[in-house]
Amino acid sequence: MAPLRNDPRAEPGDRPNLVGQPPRAIAALLEPVVDRPFRARQVARWIIDRNATGFAEMTNLSKPLRAELDRRFRIADPEILEASTSDDGSVKWLFGLDDGLTIEGVAMPEGGKLTMCLSSQTGCAVGCTFCVTGALGGGRNLRPDEIVGQYRVMLRQLEAPVDRVNIVFMGMGEPLLNTGHLGLALETLYERVSPKRITVSTSGILPGIRWLAGLERRPKLAVSLNAPDQERRQHLMPIARRYPLVDLMAELRRFPLEHGRRITFEYVLIRGLNDRVTDAEAVARMIRGIPSKVNVIPLNEDPEHFPDLRRPDDATINQLAIALRDAGLTVTVRWSKGLDVDAACGQLKGRHQRGSPPRLEVRGASQRDGR
Ligand code: SF4
Repeated sequence: MAPLRNDPRAEPGDRPNLVGQPPRAIAALLEPVVDRPFRARQVARWIIDRNATGFAEMTNLSKPLRAELDRRFRIADPEILEASTSDDGSVKWLFGLDDGLTIEGVAMPEGGKLTMCLSSQTGCAVGCTFCVTGALGGGRNLRPDEIVGQYRVMLRQLEAPVDRVNIVFMGMGEPLLNTGHLGLALETLYERVSPKRITVSTSGILPGIRWLAGLERRPKLAVSLNAPDQERRQHLMPIARRYPLVDLMAELRRFPLEHGRRITFEYVLIRGLNDRVTDAEAVARMIRGIPSKVNVIPLNEDPEHFPDLRRPDDATINQLAIALRDAGLTVTVRWSKGLDVDAACGQLKGRHQRGSPPRLEVRGASQRDGR
């Protein structure tokens, strides 16, 4: 078999990682190795459905085939460097990647459901002025194996089975600046999680929103809005200079929505900046006519990175939520989960980079997973 040197997922001289590849891609990669196509399907099912971590687990394959697969390919996931459990049950992981960079993932249990928050990049060049990941600076795009690997590792870490997994791309990075790898990762995740249980959250990258609109199977869309006008939005989110609010709203009005689906607008609430009742009324006017819901997210304060940004008091938060509701919108206030474990995007990585000790119980730290 010719070496897979043209495979962009493989490092030079490295074995391609089969994690994060949908069945059709695994079939293409394995085609020179397996005698019959259903063998490749068996391998895909082991990796995608049964979360296998090595070829030795694939007991319905012959030993020689397992050895050959192991010689040519890898099944590798990110490594757990640190895990912190919050009082409310949320768990946040710091993952190490094979080039030494780190990313975060969070699992938030609620009843029999589990919501996983995944990262799509190792940093973020978008630079929202309230976000620790943005403050840490840009990074590289995560590969499909690194995106899906977060999901696989979290599944293995669960202490109890869950009825349903939801996935949100709200971790580190702007997913719609990584559409090539995100597309493959989504196709792989769809094998286990319905597109209607996956949400991609964007700061408003218009080409990326158009890419999503053109997908045959689309995840749900969330847009980080955060201000009712261009001036304040571009102050909080510099990317709005490139993709102005008026263009964003026009694009969202065209966005195809499956029956019963809505666009989620996220609104990070910051004291004195965007927390007046009149701001809520302006938001309601702006998104009127778009099937939508609004998630109000009181700022997760970080005095070290943003000493001047404060969370509004609870009464102000409630007043704004009520004003949105009175304007006819569906509103949820995200009283933040995991506040005691640096749950806001980038906070755990930021602390890790500074080398300060974990604040909470640490479980599973430094274990290697899935190698
Ligand atoms: S909020 Fe999202 S898009 Fe903005 S800087 Fe943070 S990670 Fe990037």
